Amino acid sequence: MKDITLKDIFEARGRIASIALKTPLMLSEVLSERTGKDIYLKLENLQTTGSFKVRGAANALLSLSPDQKKRGVITFSTGNHGRAVAFVARSLGLRAVICLSNRVPQYRLDAMRKLGAEVVQHGESQDEAYDHALELQQEQGLTMIQAFDDPLIIAGQGTIGLEILEDFPRVDTVVVPLSGGGLIAGIALAMKTADPKVRVVGVSMEVAPAMYHSIQAAKPVEIEEKDSLADALLGGIGLDNQYTFPLVQKLVDDIILVTEDEIADGIFFAFEQQRLVIEGAAAVGVAMLIGGKDNAIGRHTAVVLSGSNVDTAILSRIAAKRYGISGIGDDFHRPKR
Ligand SMILES: *Cc1c(COP(=O)(O)O)cnc(C)c1O
Repeated sequence: MKDITLKDIFEARGRIASIALKTPLMLSEVLSERTGKDIYLKLENLQTTGSFKVRGAANALLSLSPDQKKRGVITFSTGNHGRAVAFVARSLGLRAVICLSNRVPQYRLDAMRKLGAEVVQHGESQDEAYDHALELQQEQGLTMIQAFDDPLIIAGQGTIGLEILEDFPRVDTVVVPLSGGGLIAGIALAMKTADPKVRVVGVSMEVAPAMYHSIQAAKPVEIEEKDSLADALLGGIGLDNQYTFPLVQKLVDDIILVTEDEIADGIFFAFEQQRLVIEGAAAVGVAMLIGGKDNAIGRHTAVVLSGSNVDTAILSRIAAKRYGISGIGDDFHRPKR
């Protein structure tokens, strides 16, 4: 197993600079007032492709050998990771294959194809699609691009930690959405190497927090699949997890869980109070703060807003409910006479 160091994260930063943006860090006056602390938001919702995943994908694809580049890459994610891999592959002129189950809805396939990826459908579950991806990888000499449990992916996501340190040197706590743990492991490595006193707090959804249960059990465990507003946080951490589980065990100080109602409140708060469109997975940090679960944070806190790819129908429904509009009718947009 390869050790991931601060040097890897600095190298990643140089490598990905032409593809991923350095995103703004914005003071949230409303959240600072509410919590009595200094709260800054790291706006990865403004990142290219709509999520931070482009950082890891760019680092992984730009590190391929010339021979690997010639053959192309494969992955099996429908969400932000698949989108990021497809986008980076197209920018570099590489072949990208995305393997999905037959249950993935058409609009998601179309989105991947629009980004120039070859979409292959196989089987009825994500597991079957994954097995088929392994076969294709073998047959066609493609390189598998993992979503989180990989040193290059972790180092790519870690560049967010460097940017937070630069823009907010007084930072004492960072709040990070947590699923497979690539994002939090990279950020924790960058920030704790610079200052071991920085607290790293992960936030997951209460309905299916795979890393939380794995940390409790002191080994990777499987959990039952559920639906969540934070759909980008769904899925397991892999029973054969090599990197992110031990890094989270070592570097993460706290994992906080939020309910579905709190996540909806977080999405709405960002929209209404900050004029920011964020997806459920990105809203868990804000959800934790406005839900009053802020005991774990210090005086100077950065909250990572990890992505913007929310289904606009869901966003509209959440907003309509909060505004007390029952059923958005035909004349909703018509001016009152
Ligand atoms: C993937 C993703 C996460 C979680 O990242 P992990 O590295 O799996 O912990 C959080 N938010 C968004 C928007 C994501 O796409």
